[in-house]
Amino acid sequence: PFATIARMPASPLHVLQSVFGYASFRGHQQAIVEQVIEGGDALVLMPTGGGKSLCYQVPAIVRQGTGVVVSPLIALMQDQVDALHEAGVAAAYLNSSQDGEAQREVERQLMAGELDLLYVAPERLLMPRLLGLLERTEVALFAIDEAHCVSQWGHDFRPEYRELAVLHERFPQVPRIALTATADPRTREEIVERLALQQARQFVSSFDRPNIGYRVSLKHNPRTQLMQFLDGHRGESGIVYALSRRKVDETAAWLADAGFEALPYHAGMEAADRARNQQRFLREEGVVMVATVAFGMGIDKPDVRFVAHLDLPRSMEGYYQETGRAGRDGLPAEAWMIYGLADVVTMSQMIAQSESADERKRIERQKLESLLAYAEATRCRRELLLGAFGEPYEGPCGHCDNCVSPPKTWDATVPAQKALSAVYRSGQRYGSGHVIDILRGIDSERVGQLGHDKLTTFGVGADMDEKAWRSVFRQLLAAGLLATDPEGYGTLRLTAASRGVLTGGERVLLREDARPVRSTRRRRDS
Ligand code: ADP
Ligand code: ZN
Repeated sequence: PFATIARMPASPLHVLQSVFGYASFRGHQQAIVEQVIEGGDALVLMPTGGGKSLCYQVPAIVRQGTGVVVSPLIALMQDQVDALHEAGVAAAYLNSSQDGEAQREVERQLMAGELDLLYVAPERLLMPRLLGLLERTEVALFAIDEAHCVSQWGHDFRPEYRELAVLHERFPQVPRIALTATADPRTREEIVERLALQQARQFVSSFDRPNIGYRVSLKHNPRTQLMQFLDGHRGESGIVYALSRRKVDETAAWLADAGFEALPYHAGMEAADRARNQQRFLREEGVVMVATVAFGMGIDKPDVRFVAHLDLPRSMEGYYQETGRAGRDGLPAEAWMIYGLADVVTMSQMIAQSESADERKRIERQKLESLLAYAEATRCRRELLLGAFGEPYEGPCGHCDNCVSPPKTWDATVPAQKALSAVYRSGQRYGSGHVIDILRGIDSERVGQLGHDKLTTFGVGADMDEKAWRSVFRQLLAAGLLATDPEGYGTLRLTAASRGVLTGGERVLLREDARPVRSTRRRRDS
């Protein structure tokens, strides 16, 4: 009964309505569906919940043959296939959770042309046997879901994803559609390059979540600050993220004592307890889930009214994903975060001590720096957040904390000029650590070897300590007054905008509350 759908000469809109029961396409869906039906490649960047699945499901049904969907999320395949069966679509999956017999039955259906959609894990798809079978059947399209897994820069790197470029070589006639909710420009470039999608049309949806208000403050008394925030949200569902399991347990217990329906969630708990807490969060009203980042993947609860961060997330993408769990219903929601410089030290140490390769550590450090720049910003948060994903936004938004009550600032024009000229005079080839040594007049081995103690900028910034300078550099980066190399080594260079500051025409204002104390240290040689 299933296979009849594929044989009908159906229009995409007809399929959307009759199979999925939706009245109309959303956002870029229609253009994407048409591109793929016509046989073209597509790269789709759409936030979570934007409706990516229909972008390949509809063309897979309309086109002759089977649509092959590559997904790393084996745990979700069963659900997706069940939902498709519910709608009367002939779908199946192949992964390591099945026994041999079940796999052979799916292969039989595939070869008999009975399937509209086949979900496979990447390592399964790349097996010579399956590739060989696919060559002897009709493939409607390849959909590469969670395409950011191909990127080293991303947080879920999977080496098998890189080998998916083979699809283009072995099936040059079959359209490919790559999809992701991770949109930063670097990841996007890597997807195009690694999957040979240079010819693909790119469909970039807005990542703006207009109903979420963003608020960030410096941490001074975390419990009091959290309590003040939560008092405005009594009886509402929300998530409180913390970095460590211990902190999750302690915070959940403390909130429960204070009369909140607070439950803990982290990977160190018994699976049954975790599942029970998750169910309560989903089903009951007004539950506050106190959790590590282990919580949230695939959670689709529409009325989460707030997401609070007691510690810095790992990256801007992480922050966007986590805060994005608030306000799915479109009603007002809040993203609240407190951060402290002590956290930054902890996180830097965690990165330094991790077992990752040096390149990975460098990437992690840069991600932390951009997040910190966001936290310390004086500009509209929404502009910065969307800017981090390469999305131009005509701000200010009018309802983030910086828009509602502009922070007190200090005039950092002179330090900014010193910083920019030290970058320039040392040849735009070094990272902030070395340039800060020059500014502070530190006779490090490197400074000596390079003769940088002879620069006119050597020691001109000895009145500020390293922390203060780091903050200045972060802000200059965030404001686009400095840039780093595209390879990710963190070396600094001037930008077109730097000129305005160097020539004295433009002022640089930084947050007063993030202004570090003046250094008491003297140049060693004086
Ligand atoms: P994503 O994969 O981008 O996170 P999904 O494909 O899971 O998003 O879709 C999110 C939700 O939006 C689903 O419940 C889906 O049924 C719904 N949806 C998607 N497209 C439409 C549409 N055109 N009309 C109505 N609902 C839609
Ligand atoms: Zn704003």
